[in-house]
Amino acid sequence: MSAARQTLTAESTKSAVVVGASLSGLMAALVLARIGFSVTVLERSDNSFRTGAALHVDQGLLARLTGTRMHNPLAPGIQSWFAVHKALLGAARSHPLVHIVTGSSVEVVEQDDTSAWAATVDGRTFSGDVVVGADGHSSVVRRAVAPERPDATFAGYCIWLGVAQESDLGPGICWPAETAFLGGGEAYLLGYPLPGPDGSVQAGRRQLGWAWYDSSRNDLFRETGCLVGKVVRHSLRASDVPDRTLRELWQDAAQWPTPWRKAVIDSIGRKAVIGTPITEYVPDRLVDGRLALVGDAAHVPTPMTGNGFAASMLGTEALADCLSEMASGYGALEASLRQYQTLRLNDVRRLVQSGQDFSRGFAASRRRARQ
Ligand SMILES: Cc1cc2nc3c(=O)[nH]c(=O)nc-3n(C[C@H](O)[C@H](O)[C@H](O)COP(=O)(O)OP(=O)(O)OC[C@H]3O[C@@H](n4cnc5c(N)ncnc54)[C@H](O)[C@@H]3O)c2cc1C
Repeated sequence: MSAARQTLTAESTKSAVVVGASLSGLMAALVLARIGFSVTVLERSDNSFRTGAALHVDQGLLARLTGTRMHNPLAPGIQSWFAVHKALLGAARSHPLVHIVTGSSVEVVEQDDTSAWAATVDGRTFSGDVVVGADGHSSVVRRAVAPERPDATFAGYCIWLGVAQESDLGPGICWPAETAFLGGGEAYLLGYPLPGPDGSVQAGRRQLGWAWYDSSRNDLFRETGCLVGKVVRHSLRASDVPDRTLRELWQDAAQWPTPWRKAVIDSIGRKAVIGTPITEYVPDRLVDGRLALVGDAAHVPTPMTGNGFAASMLGTEALADCLSEMASGYGALEASLRQYQTLRLNDVRRLVQSGQDFSRGFAASRRRARQ
């Protein structure tokens, strides 16, 4: 631990445990550290299998989260998930009040009148004044906050995701200026031009990301254990997508115009396609006592809303705003968390509900096509 980290951690009187070091967890850690919390972030994996998703980043995101301009700015506009994660992780790692503990799979969270804690599967316990669940759509923390309805449910379709390097797509590509939204009926394709892995927007160094909405292969996700009943357990990793599915996708890709068809076929050829069954969750609550939920742990909209990331950011900021105005004395922290819930609950419920008409119609398109 650096000297600066040791001094600041010792001086900080408030502490938080954040479960999950993906986008919401890192944003929560940064905003809580900004208001003086000493933050321990617990992450079970290295997130290395994530690929494809693209997010809209606001101007000055990192400065806004950290309250300082010391970090390398993250370019505004459409960015790959990896670029956003890398920038947030860099800012969190360099913050003296944030401590990230990887290889920490949280099994259960609990609380009493004076603290809350997270216990990991290997028997360690991390406690703080508050535990923030940023552990995604199948959140463990949500089981404690909303035990009567802990699971997000399958929306009835999946998304295939990939990213292709411009340099692999051959000459003569007419580079798209903006996001493309193609298809209808049983399949949609969202295509997005992205900066290169190094952030470059120079010709030859950029990337094309794509997300293919597919309601026709739900059986595959059941057969592979990704989907059990209505609950999504995990995504289908690129290495686990069967060859026959890749061949079918390769044939079906003929329906997309270039350059998107080329990008899809390139990803399939490299077996660099992951399949994500889509879930939804309309929350009834965001907090319980000293436990709070943010990001996909709190609310899961279909990616078709394009607003999951923005809602996660607004949520972490609202949480920090409420905690920064916390009064002193018994019950003050719980009251601040209830205020956070009051501020955010209706908005995030509406966000998820706004995508449900699309989800129902799209999931039913396969059934209609079969009749
Ligand atoms: C396919 C897809 C496309 C999307 N496209 C868009 C888009 O275009 N625009 C947009 O705004 N949003 C989009 N989203 C949503 C957006 O990516 C998320 O809302 C945003 O990234 C916030 O995610 P999160 O950090 O809350 O959850 P996650 O990214 O799921 O992170 C949860 C983290 O918690 C960790 N974790 C889970 N359980 C435990 C445990 N028990 N112990 C320790 N760690 C744990 C996980 O390893 C992970 O790192 C998309 C989502 C998907 C799935």
